[in-house]
Amino acid sequence: MRGVVMHAPGDVRVEQREDPRIIHPTDAVIRLSATCVCGSDLWPYRGVETVGGPTPMGHEYVGVVEEVGSEVTSIQPGQFVVGSFFASDNTCEICRAGYQPSCVHRVGMGALGCQAERLRVPLADGTLVATPGTPDDDLIPSLLAASDVLGTGWFGAVAAQAGPGRTVAVVGDGAVGLLAVLAARQLGAERIIAMSRHEPRQKLAAEFGATDIVTERGDEGVARIKELTDGLGAHSVIEAVGTQESMMQAIRSTRPGGHVGFVGVSHDVALEGQELFFSHVHLHGGPAPVRQYLPELIDLIWQRKIDPGKVFDLTLPLDQAAEAYRAMDERRAIKALLRV
Ligand SMILES: [Zn+2]
Repeated sequence: MRGVVMHAPGDVRVEQREDPRIIHPTDAVIRLSATCVCGSDLWPYRGVETVGGPTPMGHEYVGVVEEVGSEVTSIQPGQFVVGSFFASDNTCEICRAGYQPSCVHRVGMGALGCQAERLRVPLADGTLVATPGTPDDDLIPSLLAASDVLGTGWFGAVAAQAGPGRTVAVVGDGAVGLLAVLAARQLGAERIIAMSRHEPRQKLAAEFGATDIVTERGDEGVARIKELTDGLGAHSVIEAVGTQESMMQAIRSTRPGGHVGFVGVSHDVALEGQELFFSHVHLHGGPAPVRQYLPELIDLIWQRKIDPGKVFDLTLPLDQAAEAYRAMDERRAIKALLRV
């Protein structure tokens, strides 16, 4: 089969890879309908994370089940399924508490390389959620968004306790930040401030429910959020970047007693103890338990109540993955979908 392999920073190729097959009786093999490039794929692409030799890429996937192992009971060949970036049994205590990315049996899907034609999914019963039927083609981008960026934005909004009566600020205007705006709207937030200086992204944020746009960042961004909130800061702030600047912007934009939901993959972030101590903010985040939200998110998409697939502003065939990475790296695209 064909699949995306990163050889070095900036060097992404589509190559022949070995076809996946059932290894464990709890596995499934799916034929992908679509996959995509994630903001987190840009960390190794930019050399911020090291690439240790040729590495299969991708952790977002939707597709049709081709084959299941002998112990798989709830997923069947022919079903259209959505899964998350960590395979999880969905039965251990950690999963039942809603933290599937820390499942005691978790398997990172990134290592299996989801930017490919076919994929082995471990722990299929726990990991995969079937849609009610075969989706119309126009629903596939939204279902693919549910696989990571929508679920991640959703977790950010939940962790920040976005809801009725709350003012929410979102740091980061990538796909996750934009979908955190959508999530905050769905969760009933009163006011949603998107922090973005890019006009097309501001427009999409407004479509998803942002009521205010702040173009300043860093200390100026914090000052602007305070101005908009009677000098207090937002109740809920979602951090969707993962840098020192964005994390401090999030913490400092939050009022005492407020909540920060941090879902940008953290890179070289260090929190100063005294500032943290006196900030009086709640911090919650990490890899999003997308699996927890999948049934609800699939239902919202299926009923066409939300359209998170709008974050894909570039669609290319899998063979043009290198251009998809370039477009995202250069911020010409918010998020690139790869047709399989
Ligand atoms: Zn588990």
